[in-house]
Amino acid sequence: MLKVGNLETFYGTSQALFGMSFEVNAGEVVTLLGRNGMGKTTTVNSIMGIIKPASGSVTLDGNEVVGSKSFKMANLGLGLVPEGRQIFPNLSVRENLIATASNHLNMSDVWTIERVYEMFPELKERATSMGNLLSGGEQQMLAIGRALMTNPKLLVLDEATEGLAPLIRDKIWKALAQLRDSGLSILVIDKNLNDLFQLADRHYIVEKGQVVWSGNSKELKMAKDIQQRYLGI
Ligand code: ATP
Repeated sequence: MLKVGNLETFYGTSQALFGMSFEVNAGEVVTLLGRNGMGKTTTVNSIMGIIKPASGSVTLDGNEVVGSKSFKMANLGLGLVPEGRQIFPNLSVRENLIATASNHLNMSDVWTIERVYEMFPELKERATSMGNLLSGGEQQMLAIGRALMTNPKLLVLDEATEGLAPLIRDKIWKALAQLRDSGLSILVIDKNLNDLFQLADRHYIVEKGQVVWSGNSKELKMAKDIQQRYLGI
């Protein structure tokens, strides 16, 4: 479904991606792993049209979309849950959800506010609270709900559980497992390897702006040397 080939991205003269390549097939959960500063967020932002890559390819169902603007990527079915959540602070929970509601791909099983509230009952209780008054966990649930309201075919999560208490983290993982079981494709960046082993089909390890290892959960679980070398575990 998503195929990223040889992406090279710069910040000014400083190169951050050096031929980044990976793919996510329909219905798969795939992770990008790696230490801080290795280029995971830059990869997500390069795909989403937030940063323009200097070269390389991003195809969605075979169509070249590299360099497209971020609203176009959203319309094409990529739902981003960005690093730092980026909730609209002066809109209520309900308004945050309404703000992105769309169905550009004419999905049949559409996401509604009620469906998001069913997944995250905490959000229903806070429906009229302003974004800036939510806890970190509530903001994260809202960021996921907001991305779902675009009815994406691929959900992209950048550090979705960072800084969250274990209980809230578990709620997020459960919700993601539900989404996976419903057939949604998911690309996830996170540091909680044990949770990712449960959730994901395949993993890519990113080091200095390129993929240095890829494999499935079973292979990564057994590759202790790889975990130690690239993830410091
Ligand atoms: P983290 O988990 O810390 O977010 P990451 O793997 O997502 O790490 P990136 O944030 O993509 O890594 O950073 C990749 C490289 O690009 C790093 O060397 C970083 O310092 C650099 N970089 C990231 N954002 C910028 C920016 N806005 N301007 C200049 N350099 C940047």
